[in-house]
Amino acid sequence: MFSGVLLALALLPSPREFVPAAGHVREPSVSVTRDASLPPEGYSLEVTQSGVRIAAADDAGVFYARQTLEQLSGPQGVRCCRVRDWPEYPYRGVMIDDGRHFFGKAHILKTLEWMAKYKLNKFHWHLCEDQGWRIQIDGYPNLTTIGATRPRSPLPGRYTRAYDNRRYGPFFYTKDDIREVVARAEELHIEIIPDLEMPGHARSVIASYPELGCPTSPLDERTAWTDWGICDDVFCLGNEQVYRFWCDVIDEVCELFPSSRINMCGDECTTRNWSKCPKCRAKAEELGLEHISHLQGWMTNRIVAYLRSKGRYYMGYADGMGHGSSLGTGDVVAIAGSQTGGAEAAARGYKVVMAPVEYAYWDFNQGLAGDPYVYASWWSGSNPLGQVYSFQPRLGLSAGAAKNVIGGLAFNWSEYTATPAELEWKMWPRAIAFAQALWNPPSGYSYAERFLPALSGHLERLRAAGVNCATWAPESPRACTGGMSADNQVMKVAE
Ligand SMILES: [Zn+2]
Repeated sequence: MFSGVLLALALLPSPREFVPAAGHVREPSVSVTRDASLPPEGYSLEVTQSGVRIAAADDAGVFYARQTLEQLSGPQGVRCCRVRDWPEYPYRGVMIDDGRHFFGKAHILKTLEWMAKYKLNKFHWHLCEDQGWRIQIDGYPNLTTIGATRPRSPLPGRYTRAYDNRRYGPFFYTKDDIREVVARAEELHIEIIPDLEMPGHARSVIASYPELGCPTSPLDERTAWTDWGICDDVFCLGNEQVYRFWCDVIDEVCELFPSSRINMCGDECTTRNWSKCPKCRAKAEELGLEHISHLQGWMTNRIVAYLRSKGRYYMGYADGMGHGSSLGTGDVVAIAGSQTGGAEAAARGYKVVMAPVEYAYWDFNQGLAGDPYVYASWWSGSNPLGQVYSFQPRLGLSAGAAKNVIGGLAFNWSEYTATPAELEWKMWPRAIAFAQALWNPPSGYSYAERFLPALSGHLERLRAAGVNCATWAPESPRACTGGMSADNQVMKVAE
């Protein structure tokens, strides 16, 4: 039986090829060479009595070999073995929503450290929401005074318009905070993709600069939004100032983030205000648009072009890409919240990052008895660990569409996640199962017989380092073996 005291960890994510050998070696010398025959991020690792030999295609491969080496190290030394390993998917991401609740620099840095240990390589930093703008923008100072504050928040757990009446904020990251986080992420071979939001999810911006909203739909109060859900306060696309605002913000964001892509999200934009707004209606007529909703596609295409002029590429949610836009497919990445939506986007030729609700929404509860962070919310269902582990981004796709799927992204939406401790509980160990699904998809790798026993040492390691991870054991009553669980449906709360 596995013992975290006497042995090194069982490797997670489990590598492609692992050949154990007898014995351990103490404080071995490490040699590193290049091997162009290995895939990107791939490595080989040989631990013998004469030392450790690492070969890798690139710097990331060397880095991942060292993460594996760390897991092979225990009190007896480094376990002798041979490993050859490479990822199935190049895009292995996790998002943290700092908009609804703010978690702070220390927590983001800690999360990055642990992501890297499990070979997750994309961090989506969700910095703008209706409920709070979280990034310093010098040209628009109101964003981080007015836009980063709300006078109250909904009471946790119920979608009832009941509030705590406590001021929340101003909470935001300074440019120095961002530079520090980006620099550390680079050392950890994690690319940080900033998540911005347009043309919907704009309430915190419109509170800061009311002229950017439709003049016929003034705010009920000039603060970031104090409810959860989909807000009708969207940008006025008949107002040219909105385009200038986004170009200015993108300029400052691009100075901070070296990522090749900027995620503009583009999801959940309602058109109620546009239909009533003379500026929006006049613009739609001038452009000869069939429907007022097509203003979104028109504006998105301008943002795509602006990003391209700066050498960056557009990324957005698949559900925002249908509104009268004909985005070029070659350099646009769609994030899909459902497998059917992802299949459609992949068939249309977009590169797709899969983030299906039933695997990738970690605000959903984990189906654990005695879970301290279950809220009977209007929204969340249940995504147990075994279900996350069974995630297959290319499931059911034709070969042509499957090649457009570049990986997966998990969402830590934070309406009902208020503190770093809660966030960690919901993220770990699901992030390890997700990493396994994206690094080395577990066909034939049994969840109950191999993954859970391998996990136990990792849970000890996480807890010893002060990570508040959920309690899982092979005998967990609801540890499902894959596929969608019967209770994974949106729950309605009886009023
Ligand atoms: Zn308007």
